[in-house]
Amino acid sequence: IRESKTIIISNRLPVKITEENGVYQLSPSEGGLATGLGSIYKEGNNIWIGWPGLEVPEERQEEVTKKLAELNLIPVFLSSEEINGYYEGFSNEILWPVFHYLVTYANFEQAYWDAYQDVNEKFKRAVTQHLSSGDKIWIHDYQLLLLPNLIREEQPSVTIGFFQHIPFPSFEIFRLIPWREEIIEGILGADLLGFHTFDDARHFISAASRLTSSNPSDNILIYKNRQIVVEAFPMGIDNDKFDRLTRDPKVAKFTVSIKNSLKNIKTILTIDRLDYSKGILQRLQALELLLEKHPEYLGKLALYMIVVPSRDTVPKYKELKDQIDQLVGNINARFRTISWLPVHYFYRSFSVEFLSAIYSAADICLVTPMRDGMNLVSKEYVASRLNEDGVLILSEMAGASKELNDALIVNPNNIGDMVKAMIQAINMPAEEQQIRMKSMRAMVSKFNIHLWVKNFMDKLREVKTMQESLH
Ligand code: UDP
Repeated sequence: IRESKTIIISNRLPVKITEENGVYQLSPSEGGLATGLGSIYKEGNNIWIGWPGLEVPEERQEEVTKKLAELNLIPVFLSSEEINGYYEGFSNEILWPVFHYLVTYANFEQAYWDAYQDVNEKFKRAVTQHLSSGDKIWIHDYQLLLLPNLIREEQPSVTIGFFQHIPFPSFEIFRLIPWREEIIEGILGADLLGFHTFDDARHFISAASRLTSSNPSDNILIYKNRQIVVEAFPMGIDNDKFDRLTRDPKVAKFTVSIKNSLKNIKTILTIDRLDYSKGILQRLQALELLLEKHPEYLGKLALYMIVVPSRDTVPKYKELKDQIDQLVGNINARFRTISWLPVHYFYRSFSVEFLSAIYSAADICLVTPMRDGMNLVSKEYVASRLNEDGVLILSEMAGASKELNDALIVNPNNIGDMVKAMIQAINMPAEEQQIRMKSMRAMVSKFNIHLWVKNFMDKLREVKTMQESLH
């Protein structure tokens, strides 16, 4: 008898593939999610199914498949047309803006929907090829909302968990999507639905009960004679990794050299992917207002702003990049002196060692998304504060604000509120910093990525047992 297994499914496989001199090189991803799920997909006959992240010509797909198999990874190959329609189109030009409450940014193209359905079908075929009875499936994120039900139609008794890493919007926003019923039905193929926050879970339950004949009672939906549990699982980070990094002598040396170069200057750090949901422009406006209204801080603070290039083929992102460039240029031109620069702006990505050093060196971390499912940067800053000092300013629209109550919580639409928070952070007494940071560090270290994976898998087992006891 074959032992039952767990199948992880996400848009991207946790691996980076590059082609050098006609040879494919694989390097495993070190992201938090990949690390957390490593305890699952690397064990026994478990597997992870997803897109390998680049277009592989047909004659070389077998070669790549073999290499991936050594890491328990199964590829779903996608053509550039499929990536355009399903990923850049439907996922990133419809679901992403709508789920982040920026409905006017959505481009409701029928062709995107067609591609999204086709690629979700393609994922289903890949899954059913590897599926045996008794297996458990854990599907990740908004690129695969139709997949739970597609699999359920083929294998009615299979165990399926689904986790959405981005927000789920209020019903009044969600209902604007032309294909809203199909999307809800797709998700309802799962037995357990996870979101980062209680509010996301509540929004999903309300959308599902308005659009289908499912009946909610608390966090349980009864749909087509099945019990579906909807719950909040706030995702954590790989706390040990950030803790270890800050203690690493090389990183520590680097931290000291950053600190020495910034003596007598309060450093405010911001790190985001280039995205209109991150509130980068509003944050710059807040800094501009602060420098204008409070000249006593000229020469006394500096914003270190790291923007990681992302989705630059989508026009809205290009536009945003131009606006950021312009605003940074204006602020620096207006306020700088020969020896001082208000905004140190980087448009690139950095090694995790560099990130660790800059997290450790920065006096303040300013995280002000307009909307964010969780936001891991805020937790990584907290995990890197070995001396239990530093101030986190955090948007109330980030999922993380539900857990990190001891941050200075701001509304990112309120520029004046952000200015006040920055001034409060700059002047916060050491004792108050310690009290706040200690309690946040306890939270981040306890509810780490490993506990998150364990809690979700435990609940999935529990839900299945409950369903079986009802039949
Ligand atoms: N990050 C990175 N390279 C960089 C800067 C940041 O890999 O140069 C990472 C950062 O450590 C964090 C992630 O990118 O883990 C961003 O996650 P978050 O939840 O804050 O935002 P998302 O990009 O997922 O919307």
